[in-house]
Amino acid sequence: MKKKKVAIIGGGASGLLCAIFCAKSGVDVDIFEQNSKCAKKILVSGNGRCNITNRDLSRDDYFSQNPSFVEYALKEFGFSEFKKFCESIGLLLDVKDDGRTYPLSNEAKSVASILLSHATSLGITIHTDKKITDIKKLLSEYNSVVIATGSEAASHLGGNRDGLAFAEFFGHNIIPTYPSLVQLHLNSSIVKKMSGTKTEGEVTLLINNKKEATSSGDILFTDYGISGFAVLDISQRASVALMEEAHVSLSINLLPAFNAQKLSNHINKMAEIGPKMTIFEILIGLVPSKLASGILEELKLPASFCSKNIDIKVSKKIANQLLNWRFEVTDTHGFRHGEVAGGGVDTTEINPKTFESLKQKNLYFCGEVLDVVGRRGGYNFAFAWASGYLAAKDISKS
Ligand SMILES: Cc1cc2nc3c(=O)[nH]c(=O)nc-3n(C[C@H](O)[C@H](O)[C@H](O)COP(=O)(O)OP(=O)(O)OC[C@H]3O[C@@H](n4cnc5c(N)ncnc54)[C@H](O)[C@@H]3O)c2cc1C
Repeated sequence: MKKKKVAIIGGGASGLLCAIFCAKSGVDVDIFEQNSKCAKKILVSGNGRCNITNRDLSRDDYFSQNPSFVEYALKEFGFSEFKKFCESIGLLLDVKDDGRTYPLSNEAKSVASILLSHATSLGITIHTDKKITDIKKLLSEYNSVVIATGSEAASHLGGNRDGLAFAEFFGHNIIPTYPSLVQLHLNSSIVKKMSGTKTEGEVTLLINNKKEATSSGDILFTDYGISGFAVLDISQRASVALMEEAHVSLSINLLPAFNAQKLSNHINKMAEIGPKMTIFEILIGLVPSKLASGILEELKLPASFCSKNIDIKVSKKIANQLLNWRFEVTDTHGFRHGEVAGGGVDTTEINPKTFESLKQKNLYFCGEVLDVVGRRGGYNFAFAWASGYLAAKDISKS
């Protein structure tokens, strides 16, 4: 009997996993990858460590216009199924207390190497430097075609809209795309002067002046605005709101361990102890110096303002600024800098159990090309693996 042939467009996370499971079932697999090598995003993921999945996966970790779409995939090829697969190919995992999971080697390159060597040993043919443009031709040459082209995020690593164009060719609806897990641009001249300063704090996102989400962790000021894990974690909602032309702003709390009263008492006490101290000198005991200067510039107080002139009104004003520093968000830092993209192929037109198109037989979509985007924490890879697996299962079936 003639072997079934599948063409997989994209040698990233979902394409590689799909290829491996197809080949394991005896399907002839060709991967077409536009880059000179596969798995570029895997290689840079998790700051070179690859947050490969998460122990705790649920639909609440994803954003999509069709939230229930991910449920079947996460159930069928969730954490334990993926872990078992990794162990079967010698890729051992390190599960952190919070559920984030990394390769035991702590190196993203081991994930890419092991997947690729496994693919090669299964006889999968990988055509690198091969950008697919004619989807119709490919579908006429193969029994099945899998579109695993990823999203527009990180264009320097291969991110593009090709998969969306292929989907449109077959009449699929595209949910508007937006960058996610992305840095934000702020409307502030002061922020530029604080560029390069990293601190820990709390970021609250306000949409049309209504509190929408809060996250804590690293905050990094840059010459265009703001970055850091706390910012990436609220960026999905900020990005959608900007796309919808809502008013988006941030409230930064630089000292979440304090309340306004405690902080203003502290400032007053310091002023009492050191009447010759400047306000700047008091502030650098609390926050990095560039942020201290920024706070004073925002309040139009000179750095040399003497402690003996600090009264309750001034200390309260400073305390409020440290705990609730408002910035208007004007934009995201764009697809090129986003880790992922939301929106994509409308999942109501995809079979959630097989990932086959409901518009075109033998055409499959998996991974980030679909309108599914995860939170930070290994969720995006988790969906890429699960969707690649289910597409392979269906392709191998008949
Ligand atoms: C800097 C960074 C860090 C990240 N870290 C993490 C992390 O730690 N944990 C996590 O869960 N997620 C992380 N992600 C997200 C994760 O990498 C993606 O969600 C995941 O790779 C999506 O898999 P995919 O198979 O859908 O697409 P991709 O992995 O992007 O693969 C798509 C492939 O298709 C190729 N391609 C596109 N068009 C064509 C064409 N026309 N012809 C041929 N080939 C084509 C591309 O070159 C690419 O290789 C990170 C992303 C970035 C950018």
